[in-house]
Amino acid sequence: MSALLLSLDSGIFIVTITAVFAKIDIMKPYLSILILFVLFGCDTKQVITLEPVHAPFSTKEVRTVQKQKPTNVILMIGDGMGLTQISAGMYSNDNSTALERCKVIGLQKTHAFDNLVTDSAASATAFSCGVKTYNAAIGVDQDTMPVKSILKYAQDRNMPTGLVASSTIVHATPACFYSNNKFRKNYEEIASDLVNSGVDFFVGGGKKFFDRREMDDRNLMDELKANDYMVSHFAEEELDAMSVDVNKKFGYLTADKDPIPVSGGRDYMIPASDMALDYLSEKGGNDGFFLMIEGSQIDWGGHANLTSYVVSEFLEYDKIIDNVLDFAEADGNTLVVITADHETGGLAINPGSTMDTLVTQFTTPKHTGTMVPVFAYGPGAESFSGIYENTEIFEKLKALVVE
Ligand code: MG
Ligand code: ZN
Repeated sequence: MSALLLSLDSGIFIVTITAVFAKIDIMKPYLSILILFVLFGCDTKQVITLEPVHAPFSTKEVRTVQKQKPTNVILMIGDGMGLTQISAGMYSNDNSTALERCKVIGLQKTHAFDNLVTDSAASATAFSCGVKTYNAAIGVDQDTMPVKSILKYAQDRNMPTGLVASSTIVHATPACFYSNNKFRKNYEEIASDLVNSGVDFFVGGGKKFFDRREMDDRNLMDELKANDYMVSHFAEEELDAMSVDVNKKFGYLTADKDPIPVSGGRDYMIPASDMALDYLSEKGGNDGFFLMIEGSQIDWGGHANLTSYVVSEFLEYDKIIDNVLDFAEADGNTLVVITADHETGGLAINPGSTMDTLVTQFTTPKHTGTMVPVFAYGPGAESFSGIYENTEIFEKLKALVVE
């Protein structure tokens, strides 16, 4: 009987046993119990572990790993700054880049919700707000619903915030931090969002979207002043001649439309970044600050398929990275994350290149779908190693800044 029970593995045997015991009246009260036992109580496939179970570590070995959290967060976005753009810049700069100071390196997957090849709006919404969305979306999800950016979370924590860009300040990359708009080219609407955003410090181009608007007669320069901003622009005074009052907010527009390339004489990015660091660190104090600095035109060099444009924009941005890392190193409580939104141009460094003379080739005047590197420095940097989606940049920053 026991041998029969142990070998039972199917309903056929159950039927057989039922038939055998049905003839014995005395067994009838136990029949249903027996059948239940056969069905559930005797699984011959069950593996019984006889080894005693040990905890993997003794209690003495269990440690609580406290995540180091930064006070200040600086996110640096080289638009279109893929690995080849960095390599081309590095070789053009005596084989050196400030990025080598970062010991934590990761890769992010850049694809958008609706397109394997992202634009700067979907990617900026991903790393600023944590959602995959459609190309051209500014801080809205795939259903055009507004999503909250890391800059807004920082504001909730009383951290002053800043944006510096070598594009217009209403361009996709900076816009995703303070605006929610279903279409990236609604520049005048995006400018209106900036006026009421509470962003403490901003420098970038696009003055005409503030004071010579087509959609209405509003003068957003006046509205900014009414909102406690000290505002000025390229035609009024030089940025680096201005003394900034930390008791007020600060906005400076560097061009009427797009700022010119650095090779054409644009020279505000380095002083603007230094001013942002001074202003925000003084204003933030122990609360810390959030700053985003974008090297916008590395991308434009890629779209133009001009290696010299890519390299000159990268080299200026590399100097800013070096300055920011100097600040972070001296401060000790500043996390710096440097990455791109996507690669632009499908740039390659071809055979025949030397350190002095690069033989380069582009595959497209558009963006490409390759992963892009992430470099991190300072407290919390270690969470940026590995391979992850661009939305994870937001999640990682939020975990470090907000939670
Ligand atoms: Mg951009
Ligand atoms: Zn682009």
